[in-house]
Amino acid sequence: MSRLNEDEEFRASVPERFRSKCELCGNPLDIRADGVHQRTSGWVKNRSGGGGHGVSVPERENKWAHGYCVDNATRGLLRQGRMF
Ligand SMILES: [Zn+2]
Repeated sequence: MSRLNEDEEFRASVPERFRSKCELCGNPLDIRADGVHQRTSGWVKNRSGGGGHGVSVPERENKWAHGYCVDNATRGLLRQGRMF
């Protein structure tokens, strides 16, 4: 299936208010889909040892990413999987 057809199918099946673009791969994304991540800004306590940080006063941004793209980014594989 070509990229264009996927785009058309996406536009036909996802209402505009639920459409966004993945910040990581640049492909269209349905913000209601399972595993979708929303970008959040907040305050993280600095600890010398690292690990287990919580975010205080999180502010959600209008930025979204596929769960698998976030997984790839977490593993440092994003560059290889980039599609555009
Ligand atoms: Zn993505």
